Amino acid sequence: MNLLPRPRDGRHRTIVRLGHPVLRQRAEEVASSRFGTRFLRDLERDLLRTMFEDGGVGLAAPQIAVPLRVFAYYVPGEGGQDEVEPRVVVNPVLRLEGEAEVAGWEGCLSIPGLRGLVPRHPSLELSGFDVDGRELSLRAQGFHARVIQHETDHLDGIVFLDRMRNLTSLAFEEEWEQFASDRHLPVEA
Ligand SMILES: [Zn+2]
Repeated sequence: MNLLPRPRDGRHRTIVRLGHPVLRQRAEEVASSRFGTRFLRDLERDLLRTMFEDGGVGLAAPQIAVPLRVFAYYVPGEGGQDEVEPRVVVNPVLRLEGEAEVAGWEGCLSIPGLRGLVPRHPSLELSGFDVDGRELSLRAQGFHARVIQHETDHLDGIVFLDRMRNLTSLAFEEEWEQFASDRHLPVEA
């Protein structure tokens, strides 16, 4: 059983659901003049707190109706994945590797109750910044790479349903728990 880090500060923000137009817009880059500001640090804390309290492994700023290129995520150390500490990425740029052919289960806090099989690239390089403007660069693979692709999609107005090859695997959580045969990884992002 993975123990989630306890959010120490920030405030819980309402997560908007599919149908809210902010989820279908391209989010704006954060201007470098905003790095290190109270605004961006508060956004970081609020994203992390809301992500943990709502049981997700990722949360993009548009999901709390902030149309900026910022997301939070972490990878719990379970399902054979190495743990990745919670972090917030600003202005991410992805260099995707391989083909978008690795199927895995995803869910979304903005599409509550549903799960679906989504093909993703197996690995990627992520570059971007933290909220203080420090450069961030990392390689990710497997579930880690999946979460980053899911969250970056939110910044371009794309949700996981758009990435599904077809909708035949779409399932409600309870049915998925009962019938899915390979539900070994966390899916809510
Ligand atoms: Zn999502």
